Amino acid sequence: MAKPNRAYNFNAGPSALPLAVLEKARDELLEFGGTGMSLLEMSHRGKEYEAVHNEAISLLKELLAIPADYEVLFLQGGASLQFAMVPLNFLPAGKKAGYVLTGSWAEKAYAEAKMLGDVYEAASSKEGNYRRIPDLAELSYGPDSAYLHVTSNNTIYGTQWQEFPDSGGVPLIADMSSDILSRPVAVGKFGLIYAGAQKNLAPAGVTVAIIRRGLLATANPKVPTMLRYSTHAESNSLYNTPPTFSIYMMALVLAWTKQQGGVPAMEKRNKEKAALIYDAIDASGGFYAGHARGDCRSLMNITFRLGSEALEKKFLAEAKAAGFVGLAGHRSVGGCRASAYNAVPYEACQALREFMVDFQKNNS
Ligand code: PMP
Repeated sequence: MAKPNRAYNFNAGPSALPLAVLEKARDELLEFGGTGMSLLEMSHRGKEYEAVHNEAISLLKELLAIPADYEVLFLQGGASLQFAMVPLNFLPAGKKAGYVLTGSWAEKAYAEAKMLGDVYEAASSKEGNYRRIPDLAELSYGPDSAYLHVTSNNTIYGTQWQEFPDSGGVPLIADMSSDILSRPVAVGKFGLIYAGAQKNLAPAGVTVAIIRRGLLATANPKVPTMLRYSTHAESNSLYNTPPTFSIYMMALVLAWTKQQGGVPAMEKRNKEKAALIYDAIDASGGFYAGHARGDCRSLMNITFRLGSEALEKKFLAEAKAAGFVGLAGHRSVGGCRASAYNAVPYEACQALREFMVDFQKNNS
């Protein structure tokens, strides 16, 4: 079969998937494992699907070195439903939950929790348009807080936590939608990690939750069935029909990640990829201006502006013509954003760097 013509895909999510994964899915699409049918057509109660489901769980446990006292859950409703499920389950009356406000998604999580219980700002980087992550010393949260919520990577602003707080007895809850699997994390520090899959894990349709059993045991039991983490933990995420195709794709992406050398290898490559683009920004003498403060820069979402909106428009138009996709900044902030998730090849980042250098030469 001819090699597909692949764009330089810098989409923020859904985003690039590894070519090898897409090829395997294509090869298996019409007939899965000698069953005479596609996985898309199978019962989620059959042994073939169940093997895929359990493989995805066990690969995720292995790749993220998830301790034995954690459950891995596959949920629906996106990371956005987690904004409500977290307080519904873990914010009882009489307690308060702290939120660190580092961008639009953190603000959305906070607003949702505010509708359901008592919340407070543990810190905010709104001043300066979320260009930094607050220092750990700035975080202010009481020891009797229900939990402390952080957003590990701010997809829109391009900032990323470099170090997480030791929150003691306060459960630490993290939205890792846009950087899960991009670098090792000490899962044991967190009571709950959640992530929409459509960046580093799979196509859209499934949300992963990694939850400590000790925290799960404290959940409010008076929550509708589908919104209780315990419902999904007790049924191996097969309480109702799960998004089988997304989970199958996740199993393939995780197998690919393992074959590439696992999460440490991903981190090394992500650092090299991001450096190509950040170096082009830093060496531009101000032609390109990075949005994130240097010590808070994301390896996943690289945000920058040019001297004027007209120049940005020209940059984006020429980039599009040169085969680059997804470089416009989020509609709420403008500018440019290159999302270089795990599956974005080194060569795509190199091509972007060259394009940026050439564009600067031709426009300054
Ligand atoms: N949190 C973060 C950090 C995100 O980047 C996104 C989506 N880009 C969301 C939450 C919302 O995810 P979903 O669309 O899966 O609800």
